[in-house]
Amino acid sequence: MSGLSRRTLLGAATVPALPLAVAPVAPAAATPSPSSSMSPSGSRVPTARPSGLAALTWLGNAGWRIEGTRSVTLVDPYVTRFDTGLSRGAFVATTPLTVDEQAVARHCPRADRILVTHSHWDHVADVPAIAARTGATVFGTRTTGFVARAMGVSATRVVDVRGGEVLDFGDVVVEVVRSLHSRNAKHAILFPGTLTDVPAAPVSIADLPEGDTLSYVVGTPGGPRAYLSGASDADVRALSDLRPDVAAVPVAAADATHDYLPRLLETLDRPRTVVAVHWDDFDAPLGVGERPLDASMGQRLPRFVDEVKRVSPRSTVVVPRHLQRLPL
Ligand SMILES: [Zn+2]
Repeated sequence: MSGLSRRTLLGAATVPALPLAVAPVAPAAATPSPSSSMSPSGSRVPTARPSGLAALTWLGNAGWRIEGTRSVTLVDPYVTRFDTGLSRGAFVATTPLTVDEQAVARHCPRADRILVTHSHWDHVADVPAIAARTGATVFGTRTTGFVARAMGVSATRVVDVRGGEVLDFGDVVVEVVRSLHSRNAKHAILFPGTLTDVPAAPVSIADLPEGDTLSYVVGTPGGPRAYLSGASDADVRALSDLRPDVAAVPVAAADATHDYLPRLLETLDRPRTVVAVHWDDFDAPLGVGERPLDASMGQRLPRFVDEVKRVSPRSTVVVPRHLQRLPL
């Protein structure tokens, strides 16, 4: 099934009005039409709209819970949200890694798989605890796999992916996409590097290198799909023809990357819905941290919304609340 037919399928979907949501403009596909597929003879025939569409719940930062009809997929679940000083301009690179087991139990009680974009603490720190509690399999880069194993996840429940894989889980299909991490003002990456073997158990956030970055396209078989990114950059040449219906796009610093948002949205063919993520204060618990990370992010967020509307005027821009559930 082509991306076009998948997208057209989403024409009827709506995004709930949110306190922080930008007033929606017309959805990208105003006239929904049935999906279609190729018949054995090669002609295109309509098929029924898939039932049991997945729903996305924002877990803060770049985290998502995706509920399919039979399974739960997590992306970058980080619900402990310990204080690193980042939001106060007093970042401590040796901040110890801790896990809030109550938050993990409350927000991630069940998972069949965990997809990790990269190995920075605000994406991976809770993953071993969630895997231990749920028995989920962890998918990510080789570095993420080594980190997960160093933090106690069995090698039998770690799967390395590199981008290009299209993984069929029955009720959910996951496409792995090669991606890039954002860069600071010096065009460098925080905690750079990759691992080539299982390290000593990480103790602080500095023990977790970026380890290359992936993004994921998650959807139902033949149904709508969401592009879920964990860092504010992308290898746009790896994105051609993806055409997701929803794009979760990190707002975090992107000034060092030329035309990040326009190039991304144009390559994704201006998704129906663009969700702003990675803008909240992940130094504070869910709910409390439902505010821009710092003053700079407070200015960045409305600029991001304006830029999405300029580049992709038919997209609905959503600035979600913590634990907001969005239809896919
Ligand atoms: Zn990162």
